[in-house]
Amino acid sequence: MKNIKIEDYIPIVGRSTIEDLYYLAQAISPRVIQNINSTFTGGGVAEILNRGVPLMNQLGVDSRWDTIKGDESFFRVTKKFHNALHGKQQDISQEELDYFIEVNRRNLREMELTGDFILVHDPQPIVLIEKKKEIGKKWLWRCHIDVSRPDKKIWEFLRGFVYDYDGAVFSAPNFSQDLPIRQFLISPSIDPLSEKNRDIEQGFIDEVLTKYGIRSEKPIITQVSRFDYLKDPVGVIDAFNLVKRSVDCQLILAGGTATDDPESDEVLTKVREKADGNPDIHILLVPTGSDLEINALQRASSIIVQKSIREGFGLTVTEGLWKGKPVVASAVGGIPLQIKNRLTGLLSYSIEGTALDIRNLLTNATFAKWLGGNGREHVRHNFLITRQIKEWLLLFISTEHPGDTIYL
Ligand code: UDP
Repeated sequence: MKNIKIEDYIPIVGRSTIEDLYYLAQAISPRVIQNINSTFTGGGVAEILNRGVPLMNQLGVDSRWDTIKGDESFFRVTKKFHNALHGKQQDISQEELDYFIEVNRRNLREMELTGDFILVHDPQPIVLIEKKKEIGKKWLWRCHIDVSRPDKKIWEFLRGFVYDYDGAVFSAPNFSQDLPIRQFLISPSIDPLSEKNRDIEQGFIDEVLTKYGIRSEKPIITQVSRFDYLKDPVGVIDAFNLVKRSVDCQLILAGGTATDDPESDEVLTKVREKADGNPDIHILLVPTGSDLEINALQRASSIIVQKSIREGFGLTVTEGLWKGKPVVASAVGGIPLQIKNRLTGLLSYSIEGTALDIRNLLTNATFAKWLGGNGREHVRHNFLITRQIKEWLLLFISTEHPGDTIYL
């Protein structure tokens, strides 16, 4: 990726936004920020850190990113946590909980905790907080999951660790919890200049379609997602089959696997069975790091779908909206923050509803274009990385000086 400078964002978000970032960064610049999660690739957290960390460094704030190491058994347990926090019933044994703690403690022995602020993302590394008694520092738990209706037993278990943090950060207001520590709301964001989101030539889009054997004459409906039950790729095929009864179109299900997600092969098999060899259903296994290709596939689409059963925030929705596409997505997790129904996209509640929305958009180009344009502006004002960096900086300042007023 070409070297992106903070100033390159001025034409997109305005000069004053960038000046605010420099001002706030100055206040926090002697401090070191250390992010810790469980994977460098795959999924929304890696997507955000990949761009957020270098941009913070450009602003003069020493920002680092480390991952904890775990084996397959560890990630099986943490995937169960993920599902359970999203409200899905899971059986997790005491041995699994013990193993989860043990792997975290092993990481603690090997990991250098160099940050003045330690930002721990999601449940996988949550036990690292045990080190706080010994080393102090400011610790923040950044939860990217929709915990509005968590499985009680697992939330109780994790909450024991959350209590020791200096603050918890959630993506949407309804994810907040009854906690004795400070809570912050910071929605995720996308980088408009990253390879995933920057403008690209039509020639490259055509090349990518050719590479995957997709013709451009028929409208393309696309869902980009890890192959995960909660993203409901099988439900997307059901909706697509309903649409196909009246409008000829094609479906792309583009996904990869994340190193911390052991369920994806199973889901992929189910998706292939459901597609049943239909030549208009393109199931694409896109390798990690194919951001330009994902960008091209999203731009080649007439409609972006995100039919999740549960969702943290849904960066794929943000990406679709930013590309000016009409987006049809389930009203779950952080998606309703992004989609104001019939203004910035369409919220759906069922397979039939998703199919109806897709059909309406395919047959009403003017409405589809208007929605897409509104969606892009909504993202510009609320979900670009510059807003998120500003809120991170405010979070650090506020953690260090609770109760103080900050004048911009
Ligand atoms: N993504 C990708 N390749 C894939 C699947 C997903 O690059 O094969 C990206 C997608 O474009 C988005 C992120 O991974 O940037 C997924 O974030 P989201 O919040 O939608 O879901 P999560 O995976 O975090 O649940």
